[in-house]
Amino acid sequence: MTQSPIPPVDAKAVVELARELIRIPSVAGREGGEQAAAELVARTMSGFGWRPHLTEVAPGRTNVVATVDGGGGPGPTLALEGHLDVVTEGDRTAWTVDPFGAEIRDGRLYGRGAADMKAGVAAMLHGARALQRSGSFPGRLRLLALCDEEGMMLGAKRAVADGHLEGVSGVIICEPEGGEICPSSKGALRLRFDLAGRMAHGAMPELGRSPIPVASSLIQELAEVQAALQRDPGAHPTLGMAYLTPTVVVAGSLDQMNVSPARATLAVDVRTIPGVDHARLLEDLRSRCARLGRTHEVAIELTVIDDRPPVEIGAEEPLLLALGRAHSELWGHSAPLGGVPGTTDGTIITRDTGIPTVVYGPGGKWIAHQADEFVEVEEIPRYADTYARAAQIFLSGPAA
Ligand SMILES: [Zn+2]
Repeated sequence: MTQSPIPPVDAKAVVELARELIRIPSVAGREGGEQAAAELVARTMSGFGWRPHLTEVAPGRTNVVATVDGGGGPGPTLALEGHLDVVTEGDRTAWTVDPFGAEIRDGRLYGRGAADMKAGVAAMLHGARALQRSGSFPGRLRLLALCDEEGMMLGAKRAVADGHLEGVSGVIICEPEGGEICPSSKGALRLRFDLAGRMAHGAMPELGRSPIPVASSLIQELAEVQAALQRDPGAHPTLGMAYLTPTVVVAGSLDQMNVSPARATLAVDVRTIPGVDHARLLEDLRSRCARLGRTHEVAIELTVIDDRPPVEIGAEEPLLLALGRAHSELWGHSAPLGGVPGTTDGTIITRDTGIPTVVYGPGGKWIAHQADEFVEVEEIPRYADTYARAAQIFLSGPAA
């Protein structure tokens, strides 16, 4: 099938959509926010002649999904994905602009979610529209604008459960990666250790079983586990090292300094790279807990709050090649391959379906969640054009 050249996206319209999305404070839990963003996306899709499918995942938190059939005969399905929620603006005095004002200054569009990731959502919608306007193409596109990425990724989990990824051959996650194409993402485990011993008077500690020194031993063992992982598998070329970081320690009470407490709780944020097997890591941690518990007569319970494996797709994956070729054509230079330091909805999609996901989108990698978050205005239509071209290459097959 011959490929029609794709007309450039309407730059004004895609930037205006990003600005409208930024003006909606879609912070999790803030009245109306996420829902209003979902409704704006649905209206935009309807305006393009698509049929958006809305699913309320939790009260006021909605997924929006649409399918654009190419009309050019059989072919794969490519999904483009973005999330609608943003993190809080935090301390407003740290901002030099209104966090929800969508102000443009010196070629930069400012606001919470400018990079993470309302520019990406606007670009994927207009990119898909541009490909559709260029004529028929094989297969189809699926657009996924999901809720709750910044929390427990309920939107991605629900999209998988609802079957929206069935038959999909690849997913572009339109998160900000500063011009890099990212085929790998770090994994994450959120762990909670509850230690239970026996309370005692601070004057007679020998009558109790304090969990505090045991928590301290456990923290030391976590450091040993981290050191072992940093030796093997060592450093990943784009993701760096694995880390086990204690982030919360709770025990005793400052009002009761003469009481040796019965309980302590430790939370640990684990970040992993390909080559670290989560099941084996958890088994190791459980056996360490059991041994420490026996030695000190303190029960240690390990709870896995969340388990997101590292993601890495192969260098020959057609989606990676299509994105690389489209980027080179439109930007005049090849995009470096990078790694995502955090996790994305793509982590959940690959974990639960095995479908390859690649992360690539407008905005700097490090600007997300900061004050004065911004995206370069000219990047937004450029990414939209790149998505359209990458989709055309991917759906038409490598020979095209
Ligand atoms: Zn994001």
